[in-house]
Amino acid sequence: MASGSKSTKKVAATAVPHGSQPFLASVNYYFDKAAKYIDLPAGLIEQIRACNSVYYMQFPVRIKGNVQVVQAWRAEHSHHKLPTKGGIRYAETVDQEEVEALAALMTYKCAVVDVPFGGGKGGIKINPKNYTVDELERITRRYTVELIKKNFIGPSVDVPAPDYGTGAREMAWIADTFQTFGNSDINALACVTGKPVGQGGVRGRTAATGRGLFFATREAVNDPTLMKRLKMTTGFSDKRIIVQGFGNVGYHAAKFLQEGGATIIGIIEYDGGLLNPKGIDVEALYKHRQATGSITNFAGAKTIKNGNSLLEHECDILVPAALESQIYKDNAPRIKAKMVVEGANGPVTAVADEILLKKGVFVMPDMFVNAGGVVVSYFEWLKNISHVRFGRLDKRFEEGSNTRLVNTIERLTGQSLSTTERGMLARGADEEDLVNSGLEDTMIGAYQSIMETMRGDKRYSTDMRTAAFVNSITKIGVSYQLLGIFP
Ligand code: NAD
Repeated sequence: MASGSKSTKKVAATAVPHGSQPFLASVNYYFDKAAKYIDLPAGLIEQIRACNSVYYMQFPVRIKGNVQVVQAWRAEHSHHKLPTKGGIRYAETVDQEEVEALAALMTYKCAVVDVPFGGGKGGIKINPKNYTVDELERITRRYTVELIKKNFIGPSVDVPAPDYGTGAREMAWIADTFQTFGNSDINALACVTGKPVGQGGVRGRTAATGRGLFFATREAVNDPTLMKRLKMTTGFSDKRIIVQGFGNVGYHAAKFLQEGGATIIGIIEYDGGLLNPKGIDVEALYKHRQATGSITNFAGAKTIKNGNSLLEHECDILVPAALESQIYKDNAPRIKAKMVVEGANGPVTAVADEILLKKGVFVMPDMFVNAGGVVVSYFEWLKNISHVRFGRLDKRFEEGSNTRLVNTIERLTGQSLSTTERGMLARGADEEDLVNSGLEDTMIGAYQSIMETMRGDKRYSTDMRTAAFVNSITKIGVSYQLLGIFP
């Protein structure tokens, strides 16, 4: 039998975290640092910071002829907007604090990019590499049943998504289980995002976080004031980048940054790193990893045994896109990058963040940088509850209008366009075009808004994370006040 508890509890106040500092302490430290600059009632600030509900469960699963008791969590950090939203992580390191920290980050992230959800997060304490596909399916379906039983999942309640160790396959199992139990709900598919396209997913979701990271970085490197301060020129052409993690976020980020003109000089994985000052061909490396199971011994770069030593290597932009707490008090003083772009959640601890700030390193915070995943998850949820693919109604109409316009221009000018030019001008937007366009607009808008806040206050005029928290907390505070809960 499963055991569970749903609690409404207050998160203890955080002292300035030192040493190896837990992830949750770092998130709360960042929150408290920003809250000082915001004029909202103390009780409201406390409510925004608190994790509203946590469901801890243990359930039995038959594994290789034995019964294994699996530990799992789902946290709903904030209900100021519903549903709550956030990924599900499969890792041996998962515990309640990690899930709460990630759920809190989701609340702040959604607010900073204007996605109308509260934050949530789930985790199962397993190493997925130790299980067969059948076993993973059994664990995932049983976890979903536990969430259904306690009303911790549903299109208007709490909507999970992929995170570290999970992907479209697991999301399809969750959707199928939910549909089986709630088959009269016409919106059942909206109970989870990150699904395969054939199962109600949206085109562009898999690459969304890496693509969003690219848009965020592109805004920064095209910002003349910022580049001048960091003593760099604008654009990607002279930017040397090192990426940690070659999973969903890291691979797509590296691919889009390379396509944008940057040079990917280093890639770090758990079993080693790669270095090539002239640049690593990201697609060729992807194929090499598919063929061999590892990025190491790739012919296009030198293999470095201690991969994480590359975090400290000379480069312009460092993109930690693997796990939390990778840049901490010991290695932070040796970081040579001028910018750190947080692809992962919480890759820089609070103490390290202060060290980097003092060194003049520009840190682009996770809550903004990796928000692309939740932005496109929001689009997927909208698609599921509206029951129509984006572009289905207007693509042909748009193409017809554009063709008539091109014909008119040709007639009036007496010039004719080539077939390729006509195709480019007349083409109507399909689902992926619209998703990518919505993502791009969101990332650009959020960058401008955070930078405006940062540059508007001398007390944190170089600290983008604090500015992002100020924006986020202010928006959540206004939302609570409009609900009439707080004066
Ligand atoms: P993933 O499982 O697809 O990839 C993670 C990669 O990191 C794997 O290739 C793994 O081998 C590697 N890795 C693990 N430990 C490492 C180490 N010590 N050094 C170097 N590499 C290591 O996971 P993901 O979805 O890419 O998520 C990565 C991070 O991004 C997580 O912090 C996650 O919470 C965050 N994130 C993911 C999304 C998303 O849409 N997937 C959205 C927002 C944030």
